[in-house]
Amino acid sequence: MDEILASGSKFRHVQFYRMHHQTHSPWQKSIAPKSCDVAIVGGGIMGCATAYWLSKSNPSLNIAILEAEQLAHGASGRNAGFLLLGTHTDYASAVDAMGRDQARRLWEFTAENARLIAELDQSAFDLQLSGSLIAAGDGAEAERLESSAELLTEDGVDVEHLNGAETNRRLMSNAYLAGLYVKEGGMLNPAKLVRHLAAQSQATVVEKWPVEGVESEGTGVRLYSKRGAIKAAKVVLTLNAYLPKLIPTLNQFVRPVRAQMMATEPVPHMLDHPVYSHAGFFYIRQRVDRRIMLGGARHLHLDEEVGYEDATTEPLQADLEAYLANHFPRIGTPAIERRWSGTMGFSPDSLPVVGCVPGVPNSTYATGFTGHGMGFSVRFGKLLARAVLGGKDEAGDLFSVDRLQLS
Ligand SMILES: Cc1cc2nc3c(=O)[nH]c(=O)nc-3n(C[C@H](O)[C@H](O)[C@H](O)COP(=O)(O)OP(=O)(O)OC[C@H]3O[C@@H](n4cnc5c(N)ncnc54)[C@H](O)[C@@H]3O)c2cc1C
Repeated sequence: MDEILASGSKFRHVQFYRMHHQTHSPWQKSIAPKSCDVAIVGGGIMGCATAYWLSKSNPSLNIAILEAEQLAHGASGRNAGFLLLGTHTDYASAVDAMGRDQARRLWEFTAENARLIAELDQSAFDLQLSGSLIAAGDGAEAERLESSAELLTEDGVDVEHLNGAETNRRLMSNAYLAGLYVKEGGMLNPAKLVRHLAAQSQATVVEKWPVEGVESEGTGVRLYSKRGAIKAAKVVLTLNAYLPKLIPTLNQFVRPVRAQMMATEPVPHMLDHPVYSHAGFFYIRQRVDRRIMLGGARHLHLDEEVGYEDATTEPLQADLEAYLANHFPRIGTPAIERRWSGTMGFSPDSLPVVGCVPGVPNSTYATGFTGHGMGFSVRFGKLLARAVLGGKDEAGDLFSVDRLQLS
């Protein structure tokens, strides 16, 4: 990968580099079982979190995770590792769009997620409970952050509203107009979290097993791939953006959107928190190895950043570099070591969607995490496990497909 960067041909190559991955997976040799109690299709954060909770609820369940490539191959292994609270938008905008009660419930759901993650073995996935900082890139955003701070405080959430000077002091910047420091949440290594959950679940992980067909059979479900078939009592499809590739009729609930990132060489310590700015269109954090990870700029290239193509583009990467130079001049111009892309799944109303595949009664799917899956992750796996086991989750109505009256 480094040779590709050095050759100058960097943008013509698909440059997926799993910033967070180890070289080898301990599961590569798993053989697909002929049958199981629950088959989970898609080995990202949602699939592995579901397996984790299923096995916690009933350790004798026979669970198989079927993954087309390898665990965390999708967005879950390529993301920025922000563990944020709330949804895709600031709290004031969420209240405007969906009402106070629903915004509060969604906030609490993600707060519970952060707490559940903190209860895991934090060192297994480099968890830093640093909180997060939302920084305002313009005056309108500064106003929304001020309203958000007031609303969140009224709702009992521990946040700190920062003026421009304080925001810039904390970020060693001079570009921001205000900030909102959210004390819960933080940052983590997402691929390590995926593998940790899979290992804890003791599910059989079958990699290189792309599912090509799902159909109801007797009281269960049959899954097909070129490598064989598996009969399962229940199936969970945690494919996020890739769901319509398997079940085309569900394309009304999710569409693929590309996100690009880059990582610099290690630089002196400068960021204590993950930082989210320009309504989430830029996100930046410093890893424990002091590399800066930066992503976004999608709003400047909306027409190009759609679909499944795994590639970085020179114009967008140049915009990321410009953001770094303009907003963090203190770090100079560090070498860019990695550039990569990933596919997000956007839903019509930007909230996750959970439903049952039409014609396959013993199925559950989850999709549409709209660039915020880590904020829902472990708590969402609990919700999906409950759905599989026939239990009720108090947050189920927030994400049910029933809310989307699409034709
Ligand atoms: C660059 C980038 C940065 C992001 N940053 C953040 C962030 O900082 N914080 C945050 O909260 N969210 C972030 N997100 C969003 C987050 O990564 C996703 O919401 C989350 O990972 C979705 O998880 P998932 O398990 O549903 O899907 P995925 O991780 O996409 O998993 C789906 C899996 O299914 C597999 N698959 C596909 N087809 C098949 C098939 N036919 N059979 C079997 N397996 C199949 C894929 O290989 C993949 O491993 C980011 C996303 C990207 C791309």
